[in-house]
Amino acid sequence: MTDFQSLGLSETLLRAVTSEGYTSPTPVQEQSIPPLLEGRDVLGVAQTGTGKTAAFALPVLQIMGRKRPQGKRHIRALILSPTRELAAQIDERFAAYSEHMDIRHRVIFGGVKQNPQVRALQKGLDILVATPGRLLDLIGQGYVDITQVEFFVLDEADRMLDMGFIRDIEKVLKLLPKKRQNLLFSATMPKSIAKLAGSFLNNAVMVDVSPKEMTVDRIEQRIMFLRKADKRRLLVQLIKDERVKCGIVFTRTKHGANRLVKQLDQSNIAAAAIHGNKSQGARTRALAGFKDGSIPILVATDIASRGIDVDGITHVFNYDLPNEPESYVHRIGRTARAGRSGIAYAFCDDTESGYLVGIQQLIGKEIPVESSHPFHFIGAIPKPGQKPGKIKDKSGTKQRPRNRKPNNNRNRQNSSQNDNRSSGGGNPNNQRRHNRPKRRNSDNRRRGDNR
Ligand code: AMP
Repeated sequence: MTDFQSLGLSETLLRAVTSEGYTSPTPVQEQSIPPLLEGRDVLGVAQTGTGKTAAFALPVLQIMGRKRPQGKRHIRALILSPTRELAAQIDERFAAYSEHMDIRHRVIFGGVKQNPQVRALQKGLDILVATPGRLLDLIGQGYVDITQVEFFVLDEADRMLDMGFIRDIEKVLKLLPKKRQNLLFSATMPKSIAKLAGSFLNNAVMVDVSPKEMTVDRIEQRIMFLRKADKRRLLVQLIKDERVKCGIVFTRTKHGANRLVKQLDQSNIAAAAIHGNKSQGARTRALAGFKDGSIPILVATDIASRGIDVDGITHVFNYDLPNEPESYVHRIGRTARAGRSGIAYAFCDDTESGYLVGIQQLIGKEIPVESSHPFHFIGAIPKPGQKPGKIKDKSGTKQRPRNRKPNNNRNRQNSSQNDNRSSGGGNPNNQRRHNRPKRRNSDNRRRGDNR
């Protein structure tokens, strides 16, 4: 088995890795660290949970530590991340890995006051982790200079495109110096990402640790058929019977997440919701409570959950089945991390059986059915030969998830409530065709940061 030492990491970083409790590198680390240390660009197909942050952070820190430029500190590494949560987690990782180094790092994102961020920038930074909206705002105000960046990391590139950040990325790329090392990480590699990668990576080494094999096989999965009206009772029963201490429940809508938190509270189950309408403070508190164990259940929508990096989640509940099959893979990947085991329950009511067919096609197997519960309802089981994604909404019209038929101009289901930029591995091309962001001003750009 490869160890971190044989990847060429310095003593300083080996110490940091050891104090994090890492014994051996993950596949993405094994494959990315050596070429990055040689100065190569890397294109990584890897999702959160694979150890990709260390895969780029360790070599970047090591190269930065080799030589300290004279004069005032300036930004030498820029990491762009689509969401605040992910950006904060990346910054946290940099803190851990650079513990024994003289490195200043900072995260900046929208939705919070800019003054503390500006003060940190004025003191001088080596590493800046940012969401695109706030970064461009602060560049525009003259507080951020990225003209001396040596390392540019674009993280969760597919999500960036899903969220309509392509123009912002292009603007950032234009401001960067020509000579630099580039890294791009993405959970999926549709053509749009390959094109983006081709536009700024030079002779990159491709590292592919695709999520399907990584997550789906390790996680125990169960599907439970029931009526919509019984979902809450089944959830409460499972949480109580299995004494869930660290579980995440996925709903399709923000409103549904809020309502469920109240209902769980009535059943004496402490829960918190995390979604794009919550203030940054509320999201941070919810995550902190979840991490320290005081809140055992987090109720989340897809967009908010992406990148939540909490080890030890034992249960994932798909309270609503996602209307995009790829989201299912991302959701269940929240459990069974870092070699631990986990179980993912999916509730399927009679309006969702088409979604289940789509999910099973994507993961290439049937999810075992758990029917020994009091709410089992055969009417929710997919019909023989049922097509993927065909579901009935309340009005009885049929709808398709967006990735199945790109040219089908379907109505967007529940668009006011949906976190509809939440596509996990959806084809951003298709999505943008349906959901092309309108000309964005700085306000809605900030909104994008806030999800
Ligand atoms: P990431 O994919 O970067 O979000 O990392 C997911 C989780 O894996 C984080 O909690 C890391 O601390 C952890 N991790 C990263 N590398 C390793 C490793 N080599 N061994 C064990 N855990 C790791």
